[in-house]
Amino acid sequence: MACEFCESPERLKLKRERIHQIKRWLEDTFPVDPLEVRLRVESMPKIYRGAEGVCEWNKDETGVLIRVAKELPLSSGIYSLLHEWAHARTDVHHDDEFYLELGRIEREFWGGGSENSRGY
Ligand SMILES: [Zn+2]
Repeated sequence: MACEFCESPERLKLKRERIHQIKRWLEDTFPVDPLEVRLRVESMPKIYRGAEGVCEWNKDETGVLIRVAKELPLSSGIYSLLHEWAHARTDVHHDDEFYLELGRIEREFWGGGSENSRGY
């Protein structure tokens, strides 16, 4: 994990913007209907210490909150977002359904989605 003090506020801002841009692409390409997906690129809360990302369902199940650790290098932050997005589309388990979904998302993203998402 990159040292948080080595990351300038400008770099963090760009990283955060890029990850949110990819989130908008994901909303179009892999919708999580009818859930609202919120995204925060921030330091992990203490209970998730060490995690690169997490996907939490709202108590009323009307939406999810995805957190991506802001200390990650951009490439790892992107992988973390794609991973948590696959959870939002399936559920909390790392089962076959989850990994098939993650595979679909990663294939679409790295096979052109990464460039396409720059328009979002
Ligand atoms: Zn997971």
